[in-house]
Amino acid sequence: MNGQNLIDGEWRSGIDAFETVNPSDLGEVVGRYSKATESDVARACAAARDALPAWSACNMQARADLLRKVGDVLVERRVAVGTLLSREEGKTLAEGVGEAVYAARCFHFQAGEVIRAQGQWYDSGRDGFNIVVTREPVGVIAAITPWNFPIAIPAWKVAAALAHGNTVVLKPSNFVPGCAVLLGEILQQAGLPRGVFNLVLGDGEPTGGAIIDAADGVTFTGGTETGRLVLRRAAETMTKVQMELGGKNALVVLDDADLDLAVDIAGNGAWRQTGQRCTGTERLIVTRGIHDAFVERLMNSAKRLQVGHALDPDTEIGPVANRPQLEKNLAFVERARAEGAELATGGECLKRRTKGLFMAPTLFVGTRSEMWCNQTEAFGPICSVIKVDDLDEAIHVANDCPYRLSAGIATAGLSSAERFRRYSRAGMVIVNAPTAGLEYHVPLGARAPSGFGPRENGLASSEFFSETKTAYINHGE
Ligand code: NDP
Repeated sequence: MNGQNLIDGEWRSGIDAFETVNPSDLGEVVGRYSKATESDVARACAAARDALPAWSACNMQARADLLRKVGDVLVERRVAVGTLLSREEGKTLAEGVGEAVYAARCFHFQAGEVIRAQGQWYDSGRDGFNIVVTREPVGVIAAITPWNFPIAIPAWKVAAALAHGNTVVLKPSNFVPGCAVLLGEILQQAGLPRGVFNLVLGDGEPTGGAIIDAADGVTFTGGTETGRLVLRRAAETMTKVQMELGGKNALVVLDDADLDLAVDIAGNGAWRQTGQRCTGTERLIVTRGIHDAFVERLMNSAKRLQVGHALDPDTEIGPVANRPQLEKNLAFVERARAEGAELATGGECLKRRTKGLFMAPTLFVGTRSEMWCNQTEAFGPICSVIKVDDLDEAIHVANDCPYRLSAGIATAGLSSAERFRRYSRAGMVIVNAPTAGLEYHVPLGARAPSGFGPRENGLASSEFFSETKTAYINHGE
């Protein structure tokens, strides 16, 4: 993959060439890219601004057809996209292909949203008046994305932005620009007019900052600390912001849970996709009666998981996506041990036939809620167990953490599940299923500091990607 910047419909090379390497095999270069220059970034933002009037006025059927076509091409090319994703980010091929299909569904869903009626009509308290409420595009959208979902996150932001008549400048993560480049090619292939979608490669600063300054709306997914910087920057120009940020998601396991199911969903949430999901499970809050059996079974299942090359069909857990993240994971393990967390399994790098960033699924036991390891996001294949007495304590502990993204419960009791749903402070609650694994047609998001502003996806996406206009019409009748 040789990737460039897409500016006003033209692919342009920039400065500061860089390569991406396969985290399953560090000797393999996956892509060669170059960062957009300062003037390229300015041109991309200007192109998005120039393209806005025509795109926001584009016939709704034409816009819907185009988005549907992008989804269709993503489905057709799912294996190519998924393979590139596996080579650049390290997800298993099945996960990579699944993510490509998910991205396609976001475009298909938003194609439908173009056609869905958006306006409201009210009678007025004044004779001879009507009131009409309509939604209009926000304008130029700056989309800034992380490395862990290199096609799905750009896709759900871009699809929603375009569906609502906005134009886009996307800055993906430097670790995984390949899928964003492919998305640019597919959008062009589908016939998107020039300037409506622009892609700039570069660092958070200056490139991310520059597109925030030029935009009317910023949609950001990434770490909470970066989110704070983005929010401060956008505040300068009072630019509308939507952010999806970090998590420290809890799964509560009650005594009445189905043990097989609980072990399965805990392992899935904690270690699949190498733990690199914002909604992954990092805290297991387990009641006393089931604790020992649950921990033993979970530990054994962790040891059986096949960690290896992402493209090997037997692999269940791919490598850590990049070296800085692996170093963070290992430092996390050290600090957790130093504060007294007991390492039940994992914690170390694994050797495989290729030289890659392989890490064993890691489980800590005997931890307490207030420990650093239970208050800090790891974002790797690492989770810890906290023993509690009952549901009320479990709910208290689940909420006893600054993050508010997703939270799950394994229980056979309907009233326990309902109590948890009601009192959890997370943005998303999941019953008898992994804390991760979200669908595209319902809102995704959380309270601060795990999110900020309107939710993404589903019908909720119109809250961020459009502006409301209220018109009072004195028609005299
Ligand atoms: P980062 O916050 O490091 O980076 C995210 C993006 O922001 C990258 O494109 C990065 O560019 C860019 N960026 C960095 N600094 C700035 C800045 N000052 N101004 C503008 N843009 C900037 O996150 P990661 O890529 O490391 O992703 C992991 C994090 O993302 C985790 O904390 C995870 O929880 C969160 N996440 C949240 C999700 C959610 O839906 N809630 C989903 C997925 C991930 P650069 O290429 O230079 O790093």
